[in-house]
Amino acid sequence: MMTTENKPAVLIKNAQIFTDGCLQNLQILFNEEEILRIAPAIDEALAKTVIDAKGLALLPGLVDTHVHLREPGFEAKETIKTGSLAAAAGGFTTIFAMPNLKPAPSTVETMKPYMEKIARHAAVRVIPFGTITDNEAGATPTDYKALKTLGCRWFSDDGVGVASGAVMQKAMKQAVEEDVLFSCHTEDMNYRQPGASVHAGPYAKENGWTGIPSACESSQLIRDLEFARTIPVKYHADHISAKESVEALAAAKADGVNCTAEVTAHHLLLEDKDVTGPMFKMNPPLRSHEDRMALIEGLENGTLDFIANDHAPHTMEEKSRPMEQAPFGIVSLETSFPLLYTEFVEKQKRWSLKQLIEWMAEKPAARFGLEKTGRIQEGYRPDFFLADLNTSYVIDPQSFESMGKNTPFGGWTSCARVEQTWVEGRPVWTRADSGLN
Ligand SMILES: [Zn+2]
Repeated sequence: MMTTENKPAVLIKNAQIFTDGCLQNLQILFNEEEILRIAPAIDEALAKTVIDAKGLALLPGLVDTHVHLREPGFEAKETIKTGSLAAAAGGFTTIFAMPNLKPAPSTVETMKPYMEKIARHAAVRVIPFGTITDNEAGATPTDYKALKTLGCRWFSDDGVGVASGAVMQKAMKQAVEEDVLFSCHTEDMNYRQPGASVHAGPYAKENGWTGIPSACESSQLIRDLEFARTIPVKYHADHISAKESVEALAAAKADGVNCTAEVTAHHLLLEDKDVTGPMFKMNPPLRSHEDRMALIEGLENGTLDFIANDHAPHTMEEKSRPMEQAPFGIVSLETSFPLLYTEFVEKQKRWSLKQLIEWMAEKPAARFGLEKTGRIQEGYRPDFFLADLNTSYVIDPQSFESMGKNTPFGGWTSCARVEQTWVEGRPVWTRADSGLN
């Protein structure tokens, strides 16, 4: 304790601090290593810096296990620097970066320079996924043991499903041996026609669009969950969109399979009938009202475990192409917390702030094995953000830190705004006219 107490400490006063499951009028003292004290009154003489956060809430730093930073390989869309700044601007202090990159981080030789880049440029804690198969090619399981020497314990082939069941089973067995987690994009391409861009349903037909059936996602998920019944891999399902997938997860969980699943803010907020063009095109697609309700209920009853947002930046040129040719994906880091809070906590009063924080911080941190992360508590990591929960502003994509402006949420009104984000006890992002230093 002597060593940490000798480091310069910061005191935040007059904020409503989210701790023990609710907002409380408390003060917080921390240094770059840990939260030292949370109490009704703390002696200012203990701090080198005192911050007056009157009118703001201090919330645990959010954790997103599904982010595309695009670097290396696709720097016209986003970089480690801009993507991680977007994370900070959205209240996220830890993000996991997907490995569909050029070169893909499948080996020590490609992962090492990638990690060095992250260390140089990231504004928040960025944890890279390794691939499940070499170069996400679906043929050969990655050498998990080798990548573990660099600290990698999380693997994904996001962007594509592992098509071969034989390869997936082999990969799962090796993952069990190395005790690493799989984060799986499930998609059986046998169900996807060329040019398919939206959910296969009456609305797609009306508009003359080729649809992506729910079975495209759920069939491969059902296959993987079958494998996971006998191969005890730590299995996590990415961006669940279909009610059939929720049903499959419920059944697997009831049988004790070691599986969890995430759902994105856009699948909770939007449906296929909201789609007007490529800005609403993502994979998996926005599905029917019935599907969306199944996702909300699945999250509420624990079948789905937490929220992760699949931040997927593209250039405006790419997103201006016709529906069939535009790439899949939307940016989400800077809108997910403000809009979920506004819709489900403030407007509908369906969720508590406690639930939202559990789904966006505590539960992803726990499942992905991050220690002392996801809560504001003495001894925990000093990762948090200040937010105004009683404001009103209009989402303007041009104000995003992200290079990607591809969002369907431009023009939406939010009552929750991120003002300042702290990682490891240091402010890494402050909103320009927040009034905070
Ligand atoms: Zn994906």
